[in-house]
Amino acid sequence: MPRLVLPARGRLFAARAERLRTLAASDALGGYLELAAAIAEAQHAAIGRLETPVRDAARLAVAPEERRPPLSPRDLKRGPEWHTALAVIVAGVASVSTFPPAVAAVCERLTVTSADALDAFADRLLAADGRDADPAAAPFVIAALQAYWTALAASLAPEDVTIVPQPSHCPVCGTLPVASIVRSAAPYAGYRYLHCGLCASEWHRVRVECTQCGAIKGIAYQSVAGGPAAVRAETCDTCRAYRKIFYQEHDPAVEPLADDLASVALDLLLAEAGFHRASTNPLLWQPSG
Ligand SMILES: [Zn+2]
Ligand SMILES: [Zn+2]
Repeated sequence: MPRLVLPARGRLFAARAERLRTLAASDALGGYLELAAAIAEAQHAAIGRLETPVRDAARLAVAPEERRPPLSPRDLKRGPEWHTALAVIVAGVASVSTFPPAVAAVCERLTVTSADALDAFADRLLAADGRDADPAAAPFVIAALQAYWTALAASLAPEDVTIVPQPSHCPVCGTLPVASIVRSAAPYAGYRYLHCGLCASEWHRVRVECTQCGAIKGIAYQSVAGGPAAVRAETCDTCRAYRKIFYQEHDPAVEPLADDLASVALDLLLAEAGFHRASTNPLLWQPSG
């Protein structure tokens, strides 16, 4: 059983866009999911145009000894390629004429923002710093960073990554996972993987264990009455956090980021029950203070 699954840059965003379109057709948040689908489709175009970004070879060389993730945003000097990715994503979304005027306004705002200001914005988002955040623009910037980091992660070999057993953060880039998925196809069948919100790497984590604090007691599974069987939230009585967990055996098409975005009803239910999200969805920016 592979403990780490590096992203497939040729398929990831196209599959996510397709899943978001499917979910948009039957969801109250359909409009937002359509926008997210357009962003994912533009990410697919962006990553196709992205030369494999230059890896920090020295960083990779020292990471195993330090037991630090090789592509940590704190350590890695971001290359200018991410600006190219952002331009492709903004142009892709701006070309969709059916979105409300506010979407065109965000695209326009991002087009005229200086490279330095965009880099400062990216630094704040990567540090989960919500100060002065532009919530409407944040998903576009995160989307460009995802394309860049996914290209970087896809260029790694599994031996470039030191796997710490049961980590709560991505072993490739150190970011928190968005959600987890229980895969149904060999060689992953029945195993649960956490999905990174930045580089889209997936790593194994045993089931029925809090992905935030590691507790193995007081874990429960919640779902919306009458909702899809493939979508649940794994709650923890110890830290009162939850992450969603998706089951391919009930729906082979589930995609962690897309299905998380499309199951806001479950988030509302859990908030009422006194649980908090362990991490946010990258395409739904919520200022943290
Ligand atoms: Zn990652
Ligand atoms: Zn916990």
